[in-house]
Amino acid sequence: MAAKILDGKLIAVKLKEAAKKSVAGFGKSPRLVAVQIGKNPSSLVYINFQKRAAESVGIEYKLVDLPESVSQSEAERVIGELAADKNVTAIILQQPMPPAIDAKMLMDIIPPAKDVEGMHPENLGRVLTGDNRIGPCTAMAVMALLESTGVKLYGKEAVVVGHSDIVGKPLSLMLLDKFVTTTVCHIATSERGALAGYVGRAEILISAVGKAGVIKGDWVKDGAIVIDVGINHRDGRIVGDIEFEPAAKKASYITPVPGGVGPVTTAMLMKNVVELAK
Ligand code: NAP
Repeated sequence: MAAKILDGKLIAVKLKEAAKKSVAGFGKSPRLVAVQIGKNPSSLVYINFQKRAAESVGIEYKLVDLPESVSQSEAERVIGELAADKNVTAIILQQPMPPAIDAKMLMDIIPPAKDVEGMHPENLGRVLTGDNRIGPCTAMAVMALLESTGVKLYGKEAVVVGHSDIVGKPLSLMLLDKFVTTTVCHIATSERGALAGYVGRAEILISAVGKAGVIKGDWVKDGAIVIDVGINHRDGRIVGDIEFEPAAKKASYITPVPGGVGPVTTAMLMKNVVELAK
């Protein structure tokens, strides 16, 4: 089977059009503030994507650039000011942060009503009860990609590889909410040599690991929907976690890397800005 490619850019365009319409109805532009500590090359790429996406839908985007040497208390003060500023409707903390900074403590300062990444315990708690108005953007992007196939998810068997707080765990809850029978695999699954067996059963396979080729193409079940969240740098190229060509021969749908989950995640960030501004 030659898989259909799930074009994340097309889905992102539709999501951004909807966000633009909502923003036009607000009368005042929402303001998204990104806080960056130090200059990490990969976060610079994301900042540019975010800025372009925000501007295209009428969201004001402001970058607060703190030096690598900033103290924890100074970073907390800056974020506290943004949290209290009535003109700031959404705040994002760019990852990764310098090792001396306790990112979790900074995230705790952002109130749920400005938590554009959907990572505040209150917003994550809502995901548990099936309310995804503000949810982790990447997990929501995966759901949008799955829904774009038009395939009925009800009763399907899914395997999510990776159990991070930001992707794997919330995604498993979103799938459960759609009555998908969901298995979550992680490092211990691989360590006992069981990953190939689980992957081989997946009618819906999602990988969010961050290791190129951790999932072999020939493990993929015939006809599976394959979503690759991973972003890895290999031989000067960006690749996913799943061996693309052999997986595409077996899957019914597959996301490319780049151009699959990434653009939809950025568009979901804009959707979250709109929801928060509401
Ligand atoms: P993370 O926090 O490092 O989580 C990776 C997960 O993979 C962990 O649960 C880890 O388990 C598990 N894992 C590691 N090695 C494994 C193996 N050999 N077999 C099975 N599981 C294994 O990363 P993340 O933030 O979730 O991101 C995952 C990937 O997605 C990264 O490449 C990241 O760049 C990418 N990403 C992409 C987007 C996008 O928009 N496209 C957004 C977010 C993230 P342990 O913790 O137990 O080791």
